[in-house]
Amino acid sequence: MMDTMKAALVQSFTDPLVVEELPIPSPGPLEALVKVQYSGVCHTDLHAAHGDWPVKPSLPFVPGHEGVGEVVAIGDQVTRLAVGDTVGNAWLWSACGECEYCETGWETLCPKQINGGYSIDGSFGTHMLVDSRYAPIIPGHVDLKAVGPVLCAGVTVYKGLKVTDTQPGEWVLISGIGGLGHLAVQYAVAMGRRVVAMDIDDSKLDLAKQHGAEIAVNAATIDNPAARITELTGGGVHGALVTAVNAHAFPQAVASLRRGGTVSLVGLPPEAFPLDIFSTVLFGLTVRGSIVGTRKDMAEALDFFVRGLIHPTFTVRTLPEINDIFAEMSNGDISGRIVLDLT
Ligand code: NAD
Ligand code: ZN
Ligand code: ZN
Repeated sequence: MMDTMKAALVQSFTDPLVVEELPIPSPGPLEALVKVQYSGVCHTDLHAAHGDWPVKPSLPFVPGHEGVGEVVAIGDQVTRLAVGDTVGNAWLWSACGECEYCETGWETLCPKQINGGYSIDGSFGTHMLVDSRYAPIIPGHVDLKAVGPVLCAGVTVYKGLKVTDTQPGEWVLISGIGGLGHLAVQYAVAMGRRVVAMDIDDSKLDLAKQHGAEIAVNAATIDNPAARITELTGGGVHGALVTAVNAHAFPQAVASLRRGGTVSLVGLPPEAFPLDIFSTVLFGLTVRGSIVGTRKDMAEALDFFVRGLIHPTFTVRTLPEINDIFAEMSNGDISGRIVLDLT
């Protein structure tokens, strides 16, 4: 009899996910088979399941790119991992290693990259494959339930904050205090930045304050939140990171910038937003996109976690609850992250 695994499968962009028995894949020469223990649920998984973006995953597929577990088999050319190691998967599942982006430290822009839980099956299952050259290695003695959210949310906000080009002591706005944003507040504080948090839900803002945000602004109840932020920070924030899944948050973040400031866009609502040309030009603003992080960014983001500087807020749930979890995520009802228990 063939060995099987359980996984949540997206079969169409309109129907709920189904939990099915699938054959356990065997690792290719440079791959490892991982018995998954926990996986975070990212809002990207929901965009993927709905086919929200221009480049769609081919159906059917298993979402999930915050999985952690134990290596149980390796391909015959694997040198970086061994059976028994604890590893994760990631959105940057692999890249080509040879293009101008890979060669210059921008593997996150590799046109040949493979994306975990999108262009290759991910971690919403009891087993997954990883590329041994790209899989994040999880250092020993960490809480495996808590580390999953670092593998996408953590590395993404850490890199996104880096590219705001802000300095310690300067203000950053974190817009959207969900899975990504509640970690962004913590990375920003750990990096010495002063934090303004913005969301449309007071409970999310309370979470941001617990993690060290000095100013919290509810964009749903305050008139002109950008003007308020400009006033409270004495001229605007030096940098901003937008994780909100709502296009309105984007021009608000731009309008909250201090002269010369930079906004990093990481949230991915499938929409557009108006960019005011006059203020962008006259105030020398920078608007840039930022996508996850490189393997080096991942190692650094994990190091902050291992040193006890990052404490993900999470609730552990089970795989059959995935459709309920997605519904709660759409409604903005999740505090921090949901982590699936696949043991
Ligand atoms: P989430 O659902 O956990 O959090 C979204 C947050 O945005 C919620 O707290 C919600 O209340 C808040 N929000 C909604 N409308 C808002 C508004 N108008 N102003 C301020 N806040 C608002 O989602 P998540 O897992 O944190 O992911 C966020 C986004 O980031 C998604 O679009 C996801 O696809 C994207 N993402 C991008 C990258 C990347 O590398 N660029 C990586 C991971 C996720
Ligand atoms: Zn993600
Ligand atoms: Zn490449």
